[in-house]
Amino acid sequence: MMSRINAIRGMNDILPDSTARWQQVESVLRGLMQRHGYQEIRLPVVEPTPLFKRAIGEVTDIVEKEMYTFEDRSGESLTLRPEGTAGCVRACLEHGLTHNQSPKLWYAGPMFRYERPQKGRYRQFHQFGVETFGQSGADMDAELILLSARLWRELGLSDVVTLEINSLGELEARAAYRAALVAYLEQFRTQLDDDSQRRLHSNPLRILDSKDPATRAILANAPVLTDYLDEGSRQHFQRLCGLLDACGISYRVNPSLVRGLDYYNKTVFEWVTTALGSQGTVCAGGRYDGLVSQLGGQATPAVGFAIGLERLVLLLEAVAPQTPAAEADVFVMALGDATVPAMMQLAESLRDACGGARIVYNCGGGSIKSQFRKADKSGARLALMMGDEELAAGVCTLKWLREARDQQRVALTDVVATVSAVLNDNEE
Ligand code: ATP
Ligand code: MG
Repeated sequence: MMSRINAIRGMNDILPDSTARWQQVESVLRGLMQRHGYQEIRLPVVEPTPLFKRAIGEVTDIVEKEMYTFEDRSGESLTLRPEGTAGCVRACLEHGLTHNQSPKLWYAGPMFRYERPQKGRYRQFHQFGVETFGQSGADMDAELILLSARLWRELGLSDVVTLEINSLGELEARAAYRAALVAYLEQFRTQLDDDSQRRLHSNPLRILDSKDPATRAILANAPVLTDYLDEGSRQHFQRLCGLLDACGISYRVNPSLVRGLDYYNKTVFEWVTTALGSQGTVCAGGRYDGLVSQLGGQATPAVGFAIGLERLVLLLEAVAPQTPAAEADVFVMALGDATVPAMMQLAESLRDACGGARIVYNCGGGSIKSQFRKADKSGARLALMMGDEELAAGVCTLKWLREARDQQRVALTDVVATVSAVLNDNEE
């Protein structure tokens, strides 16, 4: 036998028994976007490598060790997108979308990061992302948070997620803080974990995010970013908090919340859950006023967020496990080859007449017993069947699969009307 080829580690098939869940999430998201006046943008999965290096930052986990980077046949360095913001900004600049306009955009699709696969962390995963441009006020930050809060309500997840917010301030303020943080951490240099030692001068703010217990203990007494905020950021953050208070959104200010990408300034936020182990961040976002100019455009304020859809689906499963849905309303079966044309035709007439009803025709026939087993498994309420005797009499047999009711013989000419009446009854 030939050896079998399997999927790449960390890149999962999403199988039919969970696609219903994905479709539910996608349709709620799509509806939410439409009702808020956001437009969809579809972007390539592959971009030139320098885009991510410039946008995300050279000294970040993503760029240092998580990117899928390769040369194409002409020797150009390409990267499978690890996130959507960089590509979205690139597209906006390329097509002038931010020129005299303030677009509010969303996208959804696969992202790729070479990470250690575990629950809630994969090498191909999916994000739903929102990016807004041209708005510098805290009302824009607040709208994004309100929108995500509404999403949790619509999905029944409000009780299992909490909001954390922080302000990173502007570049200059961050530089002053960075100097203070480095001076403090220098005293404990050798006690820091390896990554943090390496980052001490290249990207010290990332140390705040370290999960190493010894490093965390040292950080407990470290200077706090909040104390170094510039006046503009402080006011912006206060306005944001005021808007969230006014709209009844509860949040925790977490002064050590930083993000793993360099482009953020001012607001950062995360929606976190304790229901998924250590992969607890379901949604993460913030303001990135400097990125558009960093990628060669005119300075344009921007703010956005991204949701990890696998984590969202896992969370939904944890909160409300899904029972498999019925796949049929009516199950149509032919007993014997001679009855196939009549029953296929009948299934077609039912589809013509019964709008959204799910009419499943059992291809391949089989014994009465095996066909009934399939009919039962399909979840259908009605089964229609025909053998040679019924064919000769111009009738078919209607069986009730979920109710204790006697089966009926129905004239072929009346079947569509009879079934329609039953299905319409169902809707009321
Ligand atoms: P984490 O701290 O969990 O590594 P991150 O800060 O790297 O997350 P972002 O780059 O902000 O994550 O991406 C936004 C969201 O995408 C995350 O909050 C998470 O829900 C999801 N996400 C990120 N990486 C993965 C992954 N490898 N597998 C599944 N989901 C992911
Ligand atoms: Mg990460």
